[in-house]
Amino acid sequence: MTEETGKIKVLFATAEAAPFAKVGGLGDVGGALPPSLLQNFSDEIDIRTIMPFHAVVKSKNPPRKKIGDFSFQANDQQLDCELFISDIDGVPVYLLDNAYINHDSPVYHGDWQLDGMKYASFSLALLEALRYLNWKIDILHANDWHTALAVHALATTYKNDPFFSGVKTVLSIHNLPYNGWGSQEAMNRLGFTASQDPDLPDWAKYTPLPMGIAAALKVMTVSPGYSQEILTPEYGCGMENYLQKHSDKVMGILNGIDEDRWNPAEDEAISHHFTVDDLASRVQNKLDLQKALGFEVDQNIPLLTIVTRLSDQKGVPSIFDALPQLLDRSWQFALLGSGSSELEARARTLAETHPDRIACFIKYDDVISRVLYASGDIFLMPSLYEPCGLSQMFAMRYGNLPLATATGGLIDSIRDYSADPQTATGFLYDEKTTAGLLRSLNLALDVYEDQDAWQLMQKNAMTTDFCWKTSALKYLDVYKSL
Ligand code: ADP
Repeated sequence: MTEETGKIKVLFATAEAAPFAKVGGLGDVGGALPPSLLQNFSDEIDIRTIMPFHAVVKSKNPPRKKIGDFSFQANDQQLDCELFISDIDGVPVYLLDNAYINHDSPVYHGDWQLDGMKYASFSLALLEALRYLNWKIDILHANDWHTALAVHALATTYKNDPFFSGVKTVLSIHNLPYNGWGSQEAMNRLGFTASQDPDLPDWAKYTPLPMGIAAALKVMTVSPGYSQEILTPEYGCGMENYLQKHSDKVMGILNGIDEDRWNPAEDEAISHHFTVDDLASRVQNKLDLQKALGFEVDQNIPLLTIVTRLSDQKGVPSIFDALPQLLDRSWQFALLGSGSSELEARARTLAETHPDRIACFIKYDDVISRVLYASGDIFLMPSLYEPCGLSQMFAMRYGNLPLATATGGLIDSIRDYSADPQTATGFLYDEKTTAGLLRSLNLALDVYEDQDAWQLMQKNAMTTDFCWKTSALKYLDVYKSL
């Protein structure tokens, strides 16, 4: 804590921060948690974000100032960096550029050589940026494998560097299986050394996320449920023994959502604004969408929706298997997603086979996502695992009731109809199979026929408090505890 201001100085290091760059939930968190900490606890914290100056951020051309250039040596490589400053909702955001970031590339290449160099170099450069800024922080809060190597580097290469003495580290896991495997050659080139932690399995000693986990003082997950699940073989990705042994440093805090950016009463993407007291206006969005998609226009036909990365994690195959078995019931289905080419092809085929009731947008599109949240009746989230999940929270805020597997953050954020219809905000099911999804869908379609029960659930969902402030306070307590 600084003597001059009495504030805890935190650098939040992330690959994504909305609205500059967002691929998934990490972008939502990166764009919302630091502002919430700053807005609610400005007397206690000086938090700033650092992220790569991705091509997509450049294309958005946010207002920014150049701070300067700096270079440093990593192994036999000289890394030349440019540093800019911008802001997101009052939080200073450092945008860092170097030769591995600075080209026309996506946030993630999906090519391990390129992603490895991009994020391993970023992890070192963000530490060197602190030195260049002469900003002595108290806490480095890194996120996922992309910046985990900064935590490792602080505990190894930079261990005896007086500039970083006393820096405490927090590493948030947003998705454990994405551990950075494949970036080993990049780490060799930049001179990283393996973790010496004897408790790590051998494969993990030179893999970014586990290296960061071993080095971090505190390991956070994005929901309490996931912090327990990763201690088990089913969810632990080979790290469960390590995490069990070190469970005292593992803690889960449920993500929040930015209730200003996600507000159906003001959202510019939707034609008919609505509130919990005006669900009739909400229905207009659905009728417009039915018309636009060429579906039968009828408010009584339940509209199933999903907004997702098309990946096996999200349980998307079970939806594609289930819907053709449910054709004797009345429903329509609209999907927005992109990802695996196999799942994209399956989505297209399904829409071509049933154009009167299935529509698929195969792309990433923020506006359409908001239209689907605002128009749908049931939001499908049959994830095989879910570290937190934000889509179900956006869906609830927009009165679209989630139907989800009982796992991770979905259990922590959805109140199940079968447990108590009076307080329910959605539907949870245990069996992560097509049969489990079908059973749950049949139940939800039955409940939908009782509009009084349905609207009660919508009201419960829309008034659930998912604001970041509650979670931000818990993060502040973690920082203080260090
Ligand atoms: P994950 O981070 O695992 O992808 P989350 O539910 O935590 O899942 O967050 C997903 C975020 O990405 C949500 O904000 C969701 O609206 C958004 N999203 C996912 N796919 C798309 C898409 N195709 N178009 C627009 N937004 C999307």
